[in-house]
Amino acid sequence: MLWTSLSYQSETDCVKGFHRYDRVKHAEVLALEQAGRLAKGATVYINLEPCCHRGDGKRTPPCTAALIEARVKRVVCCITDPNPRVDGRGVAALRQAGIAVTVGPRISAARILNAEYLRSVITANTSPTLSLSQLLF
Ligand SMILES: [Zn+2]
Repeated sequence: MLWTSLSYQSETDCVKGFHRYDRVKHAEVLALEQAGRLAKGATVYINLEPCCHRGDGKRTPPCTAALIEARVKRVVCCITDPNPRVDGRGVAALRQAGIAVTVGPRISAARILNAEYLRSVITANTSPTLSLSQLLF
């Protein structure tokens, strides 16, 4: 489960977004929509690096673009996304836009929350290698 918490004034003044994989919008976009103008200058906490590409079937625009457009001040994400289409590019895009980014808090919890997604990405990216191994041995 991808979640986003967006703090715009204090730890208690925040909105939260949760992404369900059967829905179109990612958690970041949902939180930004709830915050509206209050997102400007906010700190955004995310358990996975924000995406920087359009999803398959053009499901959703990149969350990095939404965060940059909303003019958030800081993004804290627990882990980077191993998806080859992201893999640090989301963090780089935010930093290039002048947004402070911290990666690393709550790594274990983020891995548990994103276990299904991480497993699917890793499996998708290792299957050709496994197939080749099976052919060789
Ligand atoms: Zn996204």
